[in-house]
Amino acid sequence: MSLLLFAALRFEARALSGRHPSTFIVRTGVGPAKATRAAQRSALTHRPAAVAVAGVAGGLRPGMVPGTLIVADRVIDSTGKTVAELPSAQLLAANLASRGLKVEIGTIVSCDRVVHGRARGDLAALGAAAVDMETAAILAEPWDCPVAVIRAVADTPEKELWSVATLAGGRKALAALRSAAPVLEEWAAAAGPRTVLLAGPRSFCAGVERAIETVKRSLERFGAPVYVRRQIVHNRHVVQELETKGAVFVHELDEVPDGATVVFSAHGVSPSIRSTAAARGLQVVDATCPLVAKVHHEVNRFAGKGYQIVLIGHAGHDETEGTLGEQEGITLIENENDVEALVVEDPEKLAYITQTTLAPADVSHLVGALSRRFPAIVGPHAADICYATQNRQEAVLAMADDCDLVAVVGSPNSSNTARLVEVATKAGCRAVMVDDEKDLQLGWLKGTRTLGVTAGASAPPVLVDRLIDALRGLGPVQVEERAVRVENVNFPLPMEVR
Ligand code: SF4
Repeated sequence: MSLLLFAALRFEARALSGRHPSTFIVRTGVGPAKATRAAQRSALTHRPAAVAVAGVAGGLRPGMVPGTLIVADRVIDSTGKTVAELPSAQLLAANLASRGLKVEIGTIVSCDRVVHGRARGDLAALGAAAVDMETAAILAEPWDCPVAVIRAVADTPEKELWSVATLAGGRKALAALRSAAPVLEEWAAAAGPRTVLLAGPRSFCAGVERAIETVKRSLERFGAPVYVRRQIVHNRHVVQELETKGAVFVHELDEVPDGATVVFSAHGVSPSIRSTAAARGLQVVDATCPLVAKVHHEVNRFAGKGYQIVLIGHAGHDETEGTLGEQEGITLIENENDVEALVVEDPEKLAYITQTTLAPADVSHLVGALSRRFPAIVGPHAADICYATQNRQEAVLAMADDCDLVAVVGSPNSSNTARLVEVATKAGCRAVMVDDEKDLQLGWLKGTRTLGVTAGASAPPVLVDRLIDALRGLGPVQVEERAVRVENVNFPLPMEVR
């Protein structure tokens, strides 16, 4: 059996009964005494992979909407004593919310009778989101597997049980339970022990650390607000954290007020952006990664020698835009068709450069195609793909064979994060990108006993920790580091903030 599911009443059990053959529903009856007996009997007769308690409940928070699902992260008794902490709440709630259900994470308090009026207020004062009569009794049993609690709000402090509105509230609560049932089954199917292989290196690179520190120091030195042109690095969490400190992210310089301080992102800018900023008298702090700046220098070196230049990269990426703006007439090459269509004035004077965050295999493929058409083509002295990109891809490749699934932490607009997903996939392993632990779909984890985890160069390390903590809600997790290299690269901060 995969899931042992407790529900107090027949109509709740009926709402929760899916078509999953490995779910067994136990109807406890109402109240803690009956719930205790049912839990003790079930513990003797069943060996489930996961246990859940579900049903309707009374909402305690003012303004609650009937039909809201409360996923418990804690269960307390009526004295406020903690009966159980439930680490699976975050993942379960995120998966319920992703189905369009209204979900809140909160504390469930269990009482031995129906409560009204002031008594409800007293329970709310304990920090509880909803009240029931059975959960604490069921969780008093020491279950040796992951446990989850979902309660659907049927009535609220404003419209209590037995009022006319409660009938409608009850229907909404049962509908919410019906929608939650398949997710509970997925959660149970994903439960079990697993191993997490941690790719090393992963997460922040030297260029990203420098860029983030540059914004923080700019805020300290020049005061908020400090404007940042484009995302300082391509990660939603980094941007949100800096916004709380006073950074204002803009798309273009015309959104920056006269006299303000503006930081250029790690991806670099074209000379026209620099001259616009200078002409407007803006205080500029340049957080361009030195490895991107190196590519810009190569452009100018080749252009100074009269070469026609092609840039291997992705259209629309901030770094590509900045590099293309360094000189007129640079042609962007994204695939073999672009190589075929390339018009060259003098095949003896052709040079290529690349975006820093591509996959080396993709670059060699396109450089090969260019060299076959234009044998005299020249490239940079040292490869443009940066050390951090190469190391993270190498680390993923090294562990992909041993994984059932690889989860890459990072935001969708991060180029190097997207490449990590591609590298794992090309190595024959299922791979997914998650912005944080809330993006982990329970369906992915069914049968995933070994999960590889890495993070793009712009993703904060704490997100990897959070992902592993969320996985612990599904069962014991053994973590193994799989480091292929140790990085100790540092870039000095821009002069303005040193
Ligand atoms: Fe610099 Fe590479 Fe990091 Fe981009 S990924 S910021 S190029 S070190």
